[in-house]
Amino acid sequence: MHFFHYRQNELYAEDVPVRLLAEKYGTPLYVYSYNTLVRHFKAYDEAYGTFPHVICYALKANTNGAILKLLAKQGCGADIVSGGELFRALKAGIPAGKIVYAGVGKTEDEIRFALKSGVLMFNVESADELREIDRVAGTMKMKAPVALRINPDIDPQTHPYISTGMKEHKFGISIDDALEHYRIASRLRNIEIVGVQKHIGSQITKITPFVDAVKRILILVDELKRRKFNIRYLDIGGGLGITYLNEKPPVPADIAKQLLPLINGREVTLVMEPGRSIVGNAGILVTKTLYLKKGEGKTFVIVDAGMNDLMRPSLYDAYHHITPVARRKRGQIRADIVGPICESGDFLAKERMIYGVRRGEYLAVMSAGAYGMSMSSNYNSRPKAAEVLVNGGKHSLISKRGTYEDLVSHEVMPGFLR
Ligand SMILES: *Cc1c(COP(=O)(O)O)cnc(C)c1O
Repeated sequence: MHFFHYRQNELYAEDVPVRLLAEKYGTPLYVYSYNTLVRHFKAYDEAYGTFPHVICYALKANTNGAILKLLAKQGCGADIVSGGELFRALKAGIPAGKIVYAGVGKTEDEIRFALKSGVLMFNVESADELREIDRVAGTMKMKAPVALRINPDIDPQTHPYISTGMKEHKFGISIDDALEHYRIASRLRNIEIVGVQKHIGSQITKITPFVDAVKRILILVDELKRRKFNIRYLDIGGGLGITYLNEKPPVPADIAKQLLPLINGREVTLVMEPGRSIVGNAGILVTKTLYLKKGEGKTFVIVDAGMNDLMRPSLYDAYHHITPVARRKRGQIRADIVGPICESGDFLAKERMIYGVRRGEYLAVMSAGAYGMSMSSNYNSRPKAAEVLVNGGKHSLISKRGTYEDLVSHEVMPGFLR
């Protein structure tokens, strides 16, 4: 559910015509809906009702400070994967006590920063990492709260690049080795074991992988509790999918309905790490048609947003619905919608049937709120897109368009070239 819709053939973001935003702020432009974001957060929060839970939004999906702040105000926590994300989360007012820290390659500096900040827990992915956290915590005379990320070997049935919970993946600790790793952790003096975590992949559109993974993890939780490990947090990760084309993913309440009876009776706080399902459908990318070019049997619609602005089609061959900002009565054409970047992989859509579009007209790339701006780059020396947040009839710039000066501002000229 989101708040982008047509009124008399004009696309609106909540109560604001998207065309007006494109004219005021320029393109390419990311537009987010405040009320969609709040709604998505509440869908999780309400689904788990009075069962103790913390929703830790996965920053990597979208790191804009205004979005983080609005989530923080709703009571949201954060799932971070780097020191930079920790910095952003704290800056936006997310309390450290609601921040969980994941990732296979945490550095000493990052571990130190997280300990000093007082994060809820480290989700640890290897024995080596456990020993390093123990060592760093020791130098700080602190105890590091830790959950082990366990790989339940469940196929999430999603794209291989965003599947993470199987044996061949670099993530987590195999469930077969879990007890041994908890034993290693228990011998480390500066480690406090507080939980179990799993995250099996992204854009999951079926309930079964979630349920099967949690069932496997619960067997481990019970075994650990029998062995007197103080497991207080059960972190079930993120990964719930959204509708890009015609997927019908479950809503958080559907999942909660199946998970809560399984978990009930265990004294744990449930932690969730949704990213895409919070921001994905809460954002669109607005782009202007620059040129039309007739190829053999199809047309190239050349727009001002490229793979540097939205990488998902190039990277994952991902589908995004693309729709005119102003709908007009025109016939359909078959088109590749491509950006200005000098790569054949620079496309937003291939072989797409769309309504005839003309130079200067705007298109909206839907479901672009997650892994859009956060994966964007300056490739081809293209300044970053601007971002706008709409709330009812109000709209506000939340990230300025990049400038040419930004492209070079961090470069340093060596003395011998001056
Ligand atoms: C990416 C990631 C998430 C969020 O995944 P979504 O599919 O965006 O919900 C959560 N937890 C971890 C550990 C991740 O790597």
